Amino acid sequence: QISPANRMTGLPAQFFAGLVRKANAQAAKGRDVINLGQGNPDQPTPPHIVEALQEAAPNPMYHRYPPFSGYPFLKQAVAQRYKEDYGVELDPEKEVAILFGGKTGLIEISQCLLNPGDVCLVPDPGYPDYWSGVALAGGVMELMPLTADNAFLPDYGAISPAVADKAKLMFINYPNNPTGATAGSEFYKQTVEFAAKHGIVVASDFAYGAIGFDDKQPVSFLQTPGAKEVGVEFYTLSKTYNMAGWRVGFALGNPEIISLINLIQDHYYCSLFGGIQAAAAAALTGSQQCVAELASAYENRRNALFGAMAEIGWQAAKPSGSFFCWLPVPKGFTSSSFSDLVLERADVVLAPGVGFGKHGEGYVRLGLLAPEERLQEAIHRIGKLNLFG
Ligand code: PLP
Repeated sequence: QISPANRMTGLPAQFFAGLVRKANAQAAKGRDVINLGQGNPDQPTPPHIVEALQEAAPNPMYHRYPPFSGYPFLKQAVAQRYKEDYGVELDPEKEVAILFGGKTGLIEISQCLLNPGDVCLVPDPGYPDYWSGVALAGGVMELMPLTADNAFLPDYGAISPAVADKAKLMFINYPNNPTGATAGSEFYKQTVEFAAKHGIVVASDFAYGAIGFDDKQPVSFLQTPGAKEVGVEFYTLSKTYNMAGWRVGFALGNPEIISLINLIQDHYYCSLFGGIQAAAAAALTGSQQCVAELASAYENRRNALFGAMAEIGWQAAKPSGSFFCWLPVPKGFTSSSFSDLVLERADVVLAPGVGFGKHGEGYVRLGLLAPEERLQEAIHRIGKLNLFG
């Protein structure tokens, strides 16, 4: 009889693993399933990045252990990208940590900063990995509801000073998963003030930083005066360059936090395969045309989807960034009963909003992760169920 450690008992099953199983079971019945449930980019990595890996892979230097905390050239490449894109200056050695995907850092920061019982503010709905990190660290979550009334931004005024004073860490994420909301510099200014006043570390998850719509480039938290004093930003190549399978991410900002994250990474991973680091540097330093094309492709998909939704009478607010649409379920359904029905009867996978927190109830998340015709087809199939209007 195996007796798991206490820290494992608070850890829920990975939410998307269950979703993938359900989708696969439907496909195994021979059905043409359109999977818009998981946030997995459907496009390949741009060829110049793949070629950089092919060139680097035979180099024997990369077959040995990489340097702890990664190669300096990759840290310089990401610092240079932040300078060009956001005007943010980063010291590559002190203010950059290379991560095994953004996900690991988002989990490790809780382990770096929270003692058992310490409070962490998390958005609800929000990306489930924030909770896993807090659970593994034995921390206590205080939820920050994100509602349409407040443009899916946390309302700092609604957090009691007693809770705010107890909090040690908070997560924010814009462009947002799952709501598709974006945040402007005024919100980040308020965030820095709130964090500084209550002594809270900010973890800004900028996974969708490259995907903004309607001619609006998303704002980085690190562009805010004082941001580096209170927090770090998590940045990843997964979505920006269609490199989700490569597992390359970064933590950027406050040097004390970066050094803690580097310490924990050194123990877990040493660092990524050097060939992947070389390809990641090629992505960051090469032409950024592919990034602009990617953002406009998602915008076209969004517009095609909303065109089809209008035809079937499904009303929702358009996302302003990320590749997610946050869609209200029709009357009489919960997020789970609606997504189960849509999978069963329309062969379309949508993520039930409740999987992102209790304030996600009443919504489903749809990823713009198929060509325009497939997105339209998904909506037309759902339209045939006659649930709207
Ligand atoms: N943060 C958010 C909000 C995400 O949606 C994801 C991936 O889906 C990540 C972070 C993690 O990205 P990765 O670990 O691939 O860098």
